[in-house]
Amino acid sequence: MPPSPAYCPEPRVFDLGPDFADAVAAADFPQTLLRFRNDRAAAEVGLESLSDAEWIAAFGRFAPLPGQPGPLAMRYHGHQFRQYNPDLGDGRGFLAAQMRDASGRLLDLGTKGSGTTPWSRSGDGRLTLKGGVREVLAASMLEAQGVPTSRAFSLIETGEALERGDEPSPTRSAVLVRLSHSHIRFGTFQRAAYLGRVDQIEALIEHVRTLYHPSVAAGDAPGLLRAVVEASAKLTARWIAAGFVHGVLNTDNLNVTGESFDYGPWRFLPQYDPAFTAAYFDQTGLYAFARQPEAVFWNLTQLAGCLKLVAEAEPLTDALNSFGPAYIRELRAAFLMRLGVLSLGEAADQRLVDATLALLREGDQALRWEPLFFDWFGGFASSARALSGPRAKLYQGEAFDAFRFALLEHEPDRIDRLEHPMFAAREPEEMLIEEVEAIWAAIDASDDWGPFQAKLARLEAARTAWGFTA
Ligand code: AMP
Ligand code: MG
Ligand code: MG
Repeated sequence: MPPSPAYCPEPRVFDLGPDFADAVAAADFPQTLLRFRNDRAAAEVGLESLSDAEWIAAFGRFAPLPGQPGPLAMRYHGHQFRQYNPDLGDGRGFLAAQMRDASGRLLDLGTKGSGTTPWSRSGDGRLTLKGGVREVLAASMLEAQGVPTSRAFSLIETGEALERGDEPSPTRSAVLVRLSHSHIRFGTFQRAAYLGRVDQIEALIEHVRTLYHPSVAAGDAPGLLRAVVEASAKLTARWIAAGFVHGVLNTDNLNVTGESFDYGPWRFLPQYDPAFTAAYFDQTGLYAFARQPEAVFWNLTQLAGCLKLVAEAEPLTDALNSFGPAYIRELRAAFLMRLGVLSLGEAADQRLVDATLALLREGDQALRWEPLFFDWFGGFASSARALSGPRAKLYQGEAFDAFRFALLEHEPDRIDRLEHPMFAAREPEEMLIEEVEAIWAAIDASDDWGPFQAKLARLEAARTAWGFTA
Protein backbone atom coordinates (compact mmCIF):
# COMPACT_ATOMS: atom_id res chain seq x y z
CA MET A 1 0.00 0.00 0.00
CA PRO A 2 1.34 3.49 -0.76
CA PRO A 3 1.49 6.13 1.97
CA SER A 4 -1.88 7.45 3.13
CA PRO A 5 -3.27 10.82 1.91
CA ALA A 6 -1.78 12.45 5.03
CA TYR A 7 1.69 11.83 3.60
CA CYS A 8 2.94 15.24 2.51
CA PRO A 9 6.54 15.06 1.18
CA GLU A 10 8.45 18.33 1.11
CA PRO A 11 12.20 17.94 0.70
CA ARG A 12 13.60 21.38 1.57
CA VAL A 13 17.26 20.77 2.31
CA PHE A 14 18.28 21.75 -1.24
CA ASP A 15 16.80 25.21 -0.66
CA LEU A 16 20.12 25.77 1.06
CA GLY A 17 22.09 25.20 -2.13
CA PRO A 18 24.43 22.30 -2.92
CA ASP A 19 26.98 22.90 -0.12
CA PHE A 20 25.21 21.34 2.86
CA ALA A 21 24.67 17.69 2.00
CA ASP A 22 26.01 14.86 -0.15
CA ALA A 23 24.09 12.08 -1.85
CA VAL A 24 25.03 8.75 -0.28
CA ALA A 25 23.85 5.16 -0.44
CA ALA A 26 22.68 2.97 2.43
CA ALA A 27 24.65 -0.13 3.35
CA ASP A 28 23.40 -3.42 1.95
CA PHE A 29 22.60 -5.30 5.15
CA PRO A 30 22.72 -9.09 5.34
CA GLN A 31 19.42 -9.12 7.24
CA THR A 32 16.50 -6.80 7.98
CA LEU A 33 14.46 -7.83 11.00
CA LEU A 34 11.80 -5.35 12.04
CA ARG A 35 12.11 -4.79 15.80
CA PHE A 36 10.09 -1.62 16.36
CA ARG A 37 7.80 0.55 14.30
CA ASN A 38 6.23 3.66 15.76
CA ASP A 39 2.76 3.63 14.26
CA ARG A 40 1.56 6.60 16.28
CA ALA A 41 4.37 8.76 14.88
CA ALA A 42 3.91 7.20 11.44
CA ALA A 43 0.23 8.19 11.43
CA GLU A 44 1.23 11.82 11.99
CA VAL A 45 3.09 11.81 8.66
CA GLY A 46 0.85 9.42 6.73
CA LEU A 47 3.14 6.39 6.78
CA GLU A 48 1.19 4.09 9.09
CA SER A 49 -0.43 2.37 6.13
CA LEU A 50 2.86 0.81 4.99
CA SER A 51 2.91 -2.97 5.32
CA ASP A 52 5.84 -4.41 7.27
CA ALA A 53 7.49 -5.38 3.97
CA GLU A 54 7.10 -1.83 2.65
CA TRP A 55 8.34 -0.46 5.96
CA ILE A 56 11.46 -2.60 5.74
CA ALA A 57 12.03 -1.54 2.12
CA ALA A 58 11.82 2.11 3.20
CA PHE A 59 13.62 2.00 6.56
CA GLY A 60 15.95 -1.00 6.24
CA ARG A 61 16.79 -0.90 2.52
CA PHE A 62 16.13 2.82 2.04
CA ALA A 63 14.31 2.71 -1.24
CA PRO A 64 13.34 6.42 -1.40
CA LEU A 65 9.77 7.21 -0.36
CA PRO A 66 7.63 8.97 -2.99
CA GLY A 67 8.69 12.58 -3.54
CA GLN A 68 12.02 12.20 -1.72
CA PRO A 69 15.46 12.75 -3.31
CA GLY A 70 17.22 9.79 -1.69
CA PRO A 71 19.72 9.63 1.18
CA LEU A 72 21.69 12.82 1.94
CA ALA A 73 24.56 12.93 4.43
CA MET A 74 24.57 16.34 6.10
CA ARG A 75 27.77 18.33 6.45
CA TYR A 76 28.61 19.90 9.81
CA HIS A 77 31.40 20.58 12.26
CA GLY A 78 31.26 20.84 16.01
CA HIS A 79 32.85 21.24 19.39
CA GLN A 80 33.20 17.87 21.09
CA PHE A 81 33.88 18.34 24.79
CA ARG A 82 34.92 21.90 23.88
CA GLN A 83 37.46 20.82 21.23
CA TYR A 84 36.70 22.02 17.73
CA ASN A 85 36.41 19.17 15.22
CA PRO A 86 36.16 20.06 11.51
CA ASP A 87 35.97 16.35 10.54
CA LEU A 88 32.39 15.70 11.57
CA GLY A 89 29.25 15.37 9.45
CA ASP A 90 26.80 12.47 9.17
CA GLY A 91 29.27 9.60 9.52
CA ARG A 92 26.73 6.87 10.11
CA GLY A 93 23.45 8.48 9.22
CA PHE A 94 21.64 10.52 6.62
CA LEU A 95 18.55 12.54 6.00
CA ALA A 96 16.11 10.06 4.44
CA ALA A 97 12.99 12.18 3.95
CA GLN A 98 11.28 15.48 4.80
CA MET A 99 7.54 15.91 5.15
CA ARG A 100 4.82 17.97 6.80
CA ASP A 101 2.74 16.62 9.64
CA ALA A 102 -0.96 17.34 10.10
CA SER A 103 -0.20 20.55 12.02
CA GLY A 104 2.07 21.77 9.23
CA ARG A 105 5.39 21.20 10.97
CA LEU A 106 8.26 20.22 8.69
CA LEU A 107 9.70 16.94 9.98
CA ASP A 108 12.76 14.92 8.99
CA LEU A 109 13.31 11.21 8.91
CA GLY A 110 16.99 10.74 9.73
CA THR A 111 18.96 7.55 10.21
CA LYS A 112 21.59 6.21 12.56
CA GLY A 113 23.65 3.17 11.58
CA SER A 114 22.76 3.20 7.86
CA GLY A 115 26.30 2.80 6.54
CA THR A 116 29.44 4.76 5.81
CA THR A 117 29.52 8.21 4.21
CA PRO A 118 32.29 10.65 3.24
CA TRP A 119 32.26 11.69 6.93
CA SER A 120 32.77 8.27 8.52
CA ARG A 121 36.51 8.77 9.17
CA SER A 122 37.67 5.43 10.61
CA GLY A 123 34.16 4.51 11.76
CA ASP A 124 32.13 1.62 10.36
CA GLY A 125 28.95 3.66 9.83
CA ARG A 126 27.03 1.21 11.99
CA LEU A 127 24.89 1.34 15.14
CA THR A 128 24.77 -1.39 17.75
CA LEU A 129 21.38 -2.96 18.36
CA LYS A 130 21.84 -2.03 22.00
CA GLY A 131 22.38 1.61 20.98
CA GLY A 132 19.20 1.47 18.91
CA VAL A 133 17.19 -0.06 21.76
CA ARG A 134 18.52 2.64 24.09
CA GLU A 135 17.50 5.46 21.72
CA VAL A 136 13.96 4.04 21.41
CA LEU A 137 13.66 3.87 25.20
CA ALA A 138 15.09 7.34 25.83
CA ALA A 139 12.90 9.06 23.24
CA SER A 140 9.76 7.29 24.52
CA MET A 141 10.46 8.24 28.12
CA LEU A 142 11.25 11.86 27.24
CA GLU A 143 8.14 12.20 25.12
CA ALA A 144 6.01 10.85 27.98
CA GLN A 145 7.52 13.52 30.23
CA GLY A 146 6.76 16.42 27.90
CA VAL A 147 10.34 17.00 26.77
CA PRO A 148 10.64 18.33 23.21
CA THR A 149 12.31 15.34 21.57
CA SER A 150 12.83 13.52 18.32
CA ARG A 151 10.81 10.31 18.19
CA ALA A 152 12.23 6.90 17.47
CA PHE A 153 10.43 5.88 14.29
CA SER A 154 11.86 2.52 13.26
CA LEU A 155 14.40 0.00 14.51
CA ILE A 156 15.55 -2.79 12.22
CA GLU A 157 18.15 -5.35 13.20
CA THR A 158 20.65 -5.76 10.38
CA GLY A 159 22.48 -9.03 11.06
CA GLU A 160 26.08 -7.84 11.30
CA ALA A 161 28.62 -8.52 14.03
CA LEU A 162 30.13 -5.26 15.30
CA GLU A 163 33.31 -4.75 17.25
CA ARG A 164 32.97 -2.10 19.94
CA GLY A 165 35.62 -1.54 22.56
CA ASP A 166 33.13 -0.66 25.27
CA GLU A 167 30.76 -3.60 24.64
CA PRO A 168 31.28 -7.35 24.83
CA SER A 169 32.31 -8.14 21.23
CA PRO A 170 31.04 -8.90 18.77
CA THR A 171 27.68 -7.22 19.30
CA ARG A 172 24.54 -7.08 17.15
CA SER A 173 23.82 -4.30 14.62
CA ALA A 174 20.76 -2.24 13.76
CA VAL A 175 19.58 0.74 11.80
CA LEU A 176 17.45 3.34 13.55
CA VAL A 177 15.23 5.95 11.94
CA ARG A 178 14.17 8.99 13.93
CA LEU A 179 11.49 11.56 13.25
CA SER A 180 12.63 15.03 14.21
CA HIS A 181 11.83 18.68 13.75
CA SER A 182 14.93 19.54 11.65
CA HIS A 183 18.47 18.21 11.62
CA ILE A 184 20.12 21.64 11.39
CA ARG A 185 22.64 21.63 14.21
CA PHE A 186 24.63 24.43 15.81
CA GLY A 187 27.54 22.64 14.10
CA THR A 188 25.94 23.26 10.68
CA PHE A 189 26.45 26.99 11.29
CA GLN A 190 29.93 26.34 12.67
CA ARG A 191 31.05 24.69 9.45
CA ALA A 192 29.90 27.66 7.37
CA ALA A 193 31.65 30.08 9.74
CA TYR A 194 34.85 28.01 9.77
CA LEU A 195 34.90 28.17 5.97
CA GLY A 196 34.30 31.93 6.15
CA ARG A 197 31.20 31.52 4.00
CA VAL A 198 29.01 34.53 4.75
CA ASP A 199 26.68 33.40 1.95
CA GLN A 200 26.16 30.04 3.65
CA ILE A 201 25.45 31.68 7.01
CA GLU A 202 22.90 33.92 5.32
CA ALA A 203 21.31 30.93 3.57
CA LEU A 204 21.12 29.04 6.87
CA ILE A 205 19.54 31.98 8.68
CA GLU A 206 16.88 32.32 5.99
CA HIS A 207 16.25 28.57 5.92
CA VAL A 208 15.94 28.15 9.68
CA ARG A 209 13.89 31.32 10.06
CA THR A 210 11.30 30.50 7.41
CA LEU A 211 10.95 26.80 8.19
CA TYR A 212 11.38 26.64 11.97
CA HIS A 213 11.16 30.12 13.53
CA PRO A 214 8.70 31.96 11.26
CA SER A 215 8.09 34.80 13.73
CA VAL A 216 11.64 36.07 13.11
CA ALA A 217 11.94 38.83 10.49
CA ALA A 218 14.01 38.35 7.33
CA GLY A 219 17.72 39.00 7.91
CA ASP A 220 17.30 39.35 11.70
CA ALA A 221 20.21 37.21 12.91
CA PRO A 222 19.94 38.36 16.57
CA GLY A 223 16.20 37.66 16.44
CA LEU A 224 16.90 34.17 15.18
CA LEU A 225 19.50 33.63 17.88
CA ARG A 226 16.97 34.72 20.50
CA ALA A 227 14.45 32.22 19.15
CA VAL A 228 17.04 29.42 19.36
CA VAL A 229 18.09 30.58 22.85
CA GLU A 230 14.48 30.49 24.06
CA ALA A 231 13.83 27.07 22.58
CA SER A 232 17.08 25.71 24.03
CA ALA A 233 16.30 27.15 27.47
CA LYS A 234 12.93 25.42 27.43
CA LEU A 235 14.51 22.13 26.37
CA THR A 236 17.13 22.35 29.12
CA ALA A 237 14.50 23.10 31.77
CA ARG A 238 12.45 20.11 30.63
CA TRP A 239 15.50 17.81 30.84
CA ILE A 240 16.15 19.01 34.39
CA ALA A 241 12.56 18.50 35.52
CA ALA A 242 12.66 15.03 33.94
CA GLY A 243 15.90 14.17 35.76
CA PHE A 244 17.54 13.49 32.40
CA VAL A 245 21.23 13.60 31.55
CA HIS A 246 21.82 13.68 27.78
CA GLY A 247 25.48 12.79 28.14
CA VAL A 248 26.99 14.31 24.99
CA LEU A 249 26.03 17.97 24.69
CA ASN A 250 28.38 18.71 21.82
CA THR A 251 27.42 21.43 19.33
CA ASP A 252 26.71 18.81 16.66
CA ASN A 253 24.10 17.27 18.95
CA LEU A 254 22.03 20.43 19.45
CA ASN A 255 19.28 21.26 17.00
CA VAL A 256 18.22 24.83 16.09
CA THR A 257 14.61 23.94 16.89
CA GLY A 258 15.38 23.16 20.53
CA GLU A 259 14.32 19.56 20.14
CA SER A 260 16.71 17.05 21.66
CA PHE A 261 17.97 14.08 19.68
CA ASP A 262 20.84 11.64 19.32
CA TYR A 263 20.63 9.61 22.50
CA GLY A 264 23.87 7.76 23.20
CA PRO A 265 25.08 7.32 26.77
CA TRP A 266 22.03 9.05 28.36
CA ARG A 267 20.74 8.27 31.82
CA PHE A 268 17.90 9.30 34.10
CA LEU A 269 18.76 10.25 37.67
CA PRO A 270 17.97 7.70 40.35
CA GLN A 271 17.81 10.55 42.87
CA TYR A 272 18.93 14.15 43.09
CA ASP A 273 22.63 14.35 42.31
CA PRO A 274 23.98 17.47 40.59
CA ALA A 275 27.23 15.71 39.65
CA PHE A 276 25.52 12.68 38.10
CA THR A 277 27.27 11.95 34.79
CA ALA A 278 25.95 9.73 32.01
CA ALA A 279 28.93 9.03 29.74
CA TYR A 280 31.79 6.97 31.11
CA PHE A 281 34.16 8.98 28.89
CA ASP A 282 33.03 12.29 30.48
CA GLN A 283 35.69 12.09 33.13
CA THR A 284 35.54 15.73 34.19
CA GLY A 285 31.74 15.74 34.47
CA LEU A 286 31.47 18.48 31.82
CA TYR A 287 27.98 17.28 30.92
CA ALA A 288 26.85 16.26 34.41
CA PHE A 289 23.17 16.71 35.34
CA ALA A 290 23.34 20.17 36.89
CA ARG A 291 25.91 21.45 34.40
CA GLN A 292 23.59 20.98 31.44
CA PRO A 293 22.29 24.60 31.48
CA GLU A 294 25.88 25.83 31.43
CA ALA A 295 26.76 23.39 28.62
CA VAL A 296 23.82 24.48 26.47
CA PHE A 297 24.65 28.14 27.11
CA TRP A 298 28.27 27.56 26.08
CA ASN A 299 27.08 25.94 22.87
CA LEU A 300 24.77 28.90 22.22
CA THR A 301 27.75 31.25 22.56
CA GLN A 302 29.41 29.27 19.75
CA LEU A 303 26.32 29.68 17.58
CA ALA A 304 26.34 33.41 18.38
CA GLY A 305 30.00 33.53 17.31
CA CYS A 306 29.02 32.18 13.89
CA LEU A 307 26.33 34.83 13.52
CA LYS A 308 28.93 37.56 14.12
CA LEU A 309 29.83 37.10 10.47
CA VAL A 310 26.58 38.83 9.58
CA ALA A 311 25.47 40.80 12.68
CA GLU A 312 26.77 43.21 15.31
CA ALA A 313 28.07 41.77 18.56
CA GLU A 314 25.84 43.78 20.89
CA PRO A 315 22.39 42.55 19.81
CA LEU A 316 23.78 39.00 19.66
CA THR A 317 25.02 39.34 23.23
CA ASP A 318 21.62 40.65 24.28
CA ALA A 319 19.99 37.63 22.67
CA LEU A 320 22.42 35.28 24.43
CA ASN A 321 21.71 36.97 27.75
CA SER A 322 18.06 36.03 27.44
CA PHE A 323 19.08 32.44 28.22
CA GLY A 324 19.24 32.87 32.02
CA PRO A 325 15.80 34.48 32.49
CA ALA A 326 14.23 32.13 29.92
CA TYR A 327 15.71 29.09 31.66
CA ILE A 328 14.43 30.16 35.08
CA ARG A 329 10.98 30.88 33.66
CA GLU A 330 10.89 27.55 31.83
CA LEU A 331 12.10 25.66 34.88
CA ARG A 332 9.17 27.06 36.86
CA ALA A 333 6.78 26.02 34.09
CA ALA A 334 8.33 22.55 33.86
CA PHE A 335 8.11 21.88 37.61
CA LEU A 336 4.56 23.21 37.78
CA MET A 337 3.61 20.83 35.02
CA ARG A 338 5.26 17.94 36.86
CA LEU A 339 3.46 18.84 40.06
CA GLY A 340 0.18 19.21 38.22
CA VAL A 341 -0.63 22.69 39.53
CA LEU A 342 -1.59 25.90 37.80
CA SER A 343 0.46 29.07 37.93
CA LEU A 344 -0.29 31.54 40.71
CA GLY A 345 2.10 34.13 39.33
CA GLU A 346 5.86 34.36 39.26
CA ALA A 347 6.63 34.86 42.95
CA ALA A 348 4.39 32.09 44.27
CA ASP A 349 5.48 29.74 41.49
CA GLN A 350 9.13 30.40 42.28
CA ARG A 351 8.49 29.68 45.98
CA LEU A 352 7.05 26.31 45.02
CA VAL A 353 9.95 25.45 42.72
CA ASP A 354 12.49 26.54 45.33
CA ALA A 355 10.75 24.45 47.99
CA THR A 356 10.65 21.48 45.61
CA LEU A 357 14.36 21.79 44.85
CA ALA A 358 15.20 22.20 48.53
CA LEU A 359 13.28 19.04 49.33
CA LEU A 360 15.05 17.24 46.50
CA ARG A 361 18.41 18.21 47.96
CA GLU A 362 17.36 17.32 51.48
CA GLY A 363 15.90 13.97 50.58
CA ASP A 364 18.62 13.09 48.13
CA GLN A 365 19.11 9.49 49.08
CA ALA A 366 15.54 8.84 50.21
CA LEU A 367 13.61 10.27 47.28
CA ARG A 368 13.79 8.67 43.88
CA TRP A 369 13.61 11.29 41.16
CA GLU A 370 11.04 9.98 38.77
CA PRO A 371 8.24 8.82 41.06
CA LEU A 372 8.93 11.44 43.66
CA PHE A 373 6.24 13.85 42.57
CA PHE A 374 3.69 11.08 42.73
CA ASP A 375 5.20 9.77 45.92
CA TRP A 376 4.77 13.09 47.65
CA PHE A 377 1.15 13.19 46.66
CA GLY A 378 0.64 9.73 48.12
CA GLY A 379 2.75 10.68 51.10
CA PHE A 380 0.69 13.51 52.37
CA ALA A 381 -2.66 12.44 50.98
CA SER A 382 -2.58 9.83 53.66
CA SER A 383 -0.33 11.11 56.38
CA ALA A 384 -0.72 7.99 58.48
CA ARG A 385 0.86 6.04 55.63
CA ALA A 386 3.57 8.65 55.15
CA LEU A 387 4.48 8.81 58.80
CA SER A 388 4.83 5.08 59.19
CA GLY A 389 6.61 4.57 55.87
CA PRO A 390 10.32 4.41 55.13
CA ARG A 391 10.51 8.16 54.55
CA ALA A 392 8.82 9.15 57.79
CA LYS A 393 11.74 11.35 58.83
CA LEU A 394 11.64 13.32 55.63
CA TYR A 395 7.88 13.85 55.86
CA GLN A 396 8.31 15.25 59.36
CA GLY A 397 11.13 17.58 58.35
CA GLU A 398 11.11 21.29 57.61
CA ALA A 399 11.81 20.92 53.91
CA PHE A 400 8.71 18.81 53.47
CA ASP A 401 6.63 21.28 55.50
CA ALA A 402 7.82 24.12 53.30
CA PHE A 403 7.03 22.11 50.20
CA ARG A 404 3.56 21.19 51.45
CA PHE A 405 2.91 24.80 52.35
CA ALA A 406 3.94 26.03 48.90
CA LEU A 407 1.92 23.32 47.16
CA LEU A 408 -1.20 23.98 49.20
CA GLU A 409 -0.81 27.68 48.50
CA HIS A 410 -1.19 26.74 44.85
CA GLU A 411 -4.00 24.34 45.42
CA PRO A 412 -5.85 24.57 48.72
CA ASP A 413 -8.11 21.67 47.74
CA ARG A 414 -5.12 19.50 46.99
CA ILE A 415 -5.79 16.95 49.68
CA ASP A 416 -9.34 16.37 48.44
CA ARG A 417 -8.09 15.97 44.92
CA LEU A 418 -5.44 13.54 46.04
CA GLU A 419 -8.11 11.16 47.22
CA HIS A 420 -9.55 11.26 43.73
CA PRO A 421 -9.09 7.99 41.80
CA MET A 422 -7.60 9.90 38.84
CA PHE A 423 -4.56 10.72 40.90
CA ALA A 424 -4.25 7.24 42.26
CA ALA A 425 -4.04 6.09 38.64
CA ARG A 426 -0.92 8.17 38.05
CA GLU A 427 1.61 5.43 38.49
CA PRO A 428 5.29 6.29 38.58
CA GLU A 429 7.36 4.99 35.71
CA GLU A 430 11.13 5.10 36.04
CA MET A 431 13.86 4.43 33.52
CA LEU A 432 16.95 3.59 35.52
CA ILE A 433 20.07 2.00 34.14
CA GLU A 434 19.46 -1.35 35.83
CA GLU A 435 16.14 -1.73 34.01
CA VAL A 436 17.63 -0.67 30.68
CA GLU A 437 20.42 -3.21 31.11
CA ALA A 438 17.91 -5.91 32.01
CA ILE A 439 15.83 -5.14 28.91
CA TRP A 440 18.96 -5.41 26.80
CA ALA A 441 20.14 -8.58 28.55
CA ALA A 442 16.87 -10.35 27.69
CA ILE A 443 17.25 -9.39 24.04
CA ASP A 444 20.92 -10.27 23.87
CA ALA A 445 20.81 -13.53 25.78
CA SER A 446 17.63 -15.09 24.43
CA ASP A 447 16.16 -12.75 21.82
CA ASP A 448 13.38 -12.03 24.29
CA TRP A 449 11.77 -8.75 23.22
CA GLY A 450 9.02 -9.09 25.83
CA PRO A 451 10.52 -6.76 28.47
CA PHE A 452 11.29 -4.13 25.78
CA GLN A 453 7.74 -4.23 24.44
CA ALA A 454 6.25 -4.27 27.94
CA LYS A 455 8.29 -1.20 28.86
CA LEU A 456 7.15 0.66 25.75
CA ALA A 457 3.54 -0.25 26.54
CA ARG A 458 3.95 1.09 30.10
CA LEU A 459 5.53 4.29 28.79
CA GLU A 460 2.65 4.74 26.39
CA ALA A 461 0.18 4.29 29.25
CA ALA A 462 2.19 6.76 31.35
CA ARG A 463 2.27 9.26 28.51
CA THR A 464 -1.49 9.28 28.25
CA ALA A 465 -2.05 9.21 32.02
CA TRP A 466 0.43 11.99 32.78
CA GLY A 467 -0.85 14.18 29.94
CA PHE A 468 2.34 16.28 29.76
CA THR A 469 2.82 18.25 26.58
CA ALA A 470 6.07 19.46 25.07
P1 AMP B 1 27.82 11.12 18.05
O1 AMP B 1 28.74 11.01 19.20
O2 AMP B 1 26.97 9.90 17.82
O3 AMP B 1 27.03 12.36 18.06
O4 AMP B 1 28.77 11.17 16.75
C1 AMP B 1 29.75 12.13 16.57
C2 AMP B 1 30.31 12.04 15.16
O5 AMP B 1 30.94 10.76 14.97
C3 AMP B 1 29.28 12.14 14.07
O6 AMP B 1 29.88 12.82 13.00
C4 AMP B 1 28.99 10.71 13.72
O7 AMP B 1 28.50 10.57 12.42
C5 AMP B 1 30.37 10.08 13.89
N1 AMP B 1 30.29 8.64 14.23
C6 AMP B 1 29.96 8.11 15.41
N2 AMP B 1 30.00 6.77 15.36
C7 AMP B 1 30.35 6.43 14.09
C8 AMP B 1 30.56 5.18 13.40
N3 AMP B 1 30.40 4.01 13.99
N4 AMP B 1 30.92 5.25 12.10
C9 AMP B 1 31.07 6.44 11.48
N5 AMP B 1 30.91 7.62 12.07
C10 AMP B 1 30.54 7.64 13.37
MG1 MG C 1 25.55 13.09 17.10
MG1 MG D 1 27.63 8.15 19.27
